[in-house]
Amino acid sequence: MAQVTLKNVFKRYDNKVTAVNDLNLDIRDKEFMVLVGPSGCGKTTTMRMIAGLEEISDGTVQIGDRVVNDVSPKDRDIAMVFQNYALYPHMTVYENMAFGLKLRKVPKADITRRVNEAASQLGLESLLQRTPKQLSGGQRQRVALGRAIVREPQVFLMDEPLSNLDAKLRVQTRAELIKLHRRLGITTIYVTHDQVEAMTMGDRMAVMKDGLLNQCDTPMNIYTNP
Ligand code: ADP
Ligand code: ADP
Repeated sequence: MAQVTLKNVFKRYDNKVTAVNDLNLDIRDKEFMVLVGPSGCGKTTTMRMIAGLEEISDGTVQIGDRVVNDVSPKDRDIAMVFQNYALYPHMTVYENMAFGLKLRKVPKADITRRVNEAASQLGLESLLQRTPKQLSGGQRQRVALGRAIVREPQVFLMDEPLSNLDAKLRVQTRAELIKLHRRLGITTIYVTHDQVEAMTMGDRMAVMKDGLLNQCDTPMNIYTNP
């Protein structure tokens, strides 16, 4: 079970900005939660605290039953795809997807199996020997997703992962992501400022404003009770 629980979480930056102000949020096991709100409301800071990339000023972050405040990012069983998903330019698609597993000393046979499975989930089978510059933007984005899912994480964090894609590709990749989530059943937190994504992608949406949680409900309930 990989629910993610934030209890009374605060983030105060050194410059005294309170980016997150007493946030309580419960993301259920296997849920697709969309995190929305205006620029500067604290979405990225929240994601970075869940990932362990940003220290928590106060409160607790729990993944499953474990408080992870002091757990390093690589031991949190989390994978991330953020807006700037730089791939290693000199490596093939296969090597890009395998790299994190190699670092973690996953046995080679498992690496091959997991990379090939992820490649087939994402339609990348025929591109494994290419380098990033031989790919389109959408293909690169899929490799970044593949690199994350080969880790078989319990929690998947995405921060505006489609914002660099053109409109048509964004629509297509959005649909693929929803299907992928259904197949893999990974607890997912997805940041967007795109209204359509917010209303269509998640099981629930959490609406933040000024570091606070304003609303957290199904898109339908939020739409009918704004
Ligand atoms: P969002 O992702 O919703 O746009 P952020 O989490 O990036 O919001 O930012 C929340 C607030 O924290 C903003 O006021 C922003 O300026 C501030 N902030 C973000 N990162 C830092 C940082 N490293 N140092 C100081 N202030 C920051
Ligand atoms: P080594 O550890 O000896 O470097 P790798 O596992 O990195 O070997 O594989 C060598 C090359 O073969 C890589 O460039 C990779 O792209 C390719 N390769 C290995 N396994 C597969 C696979 N299952 N499908 C596609 N390409 C593969």
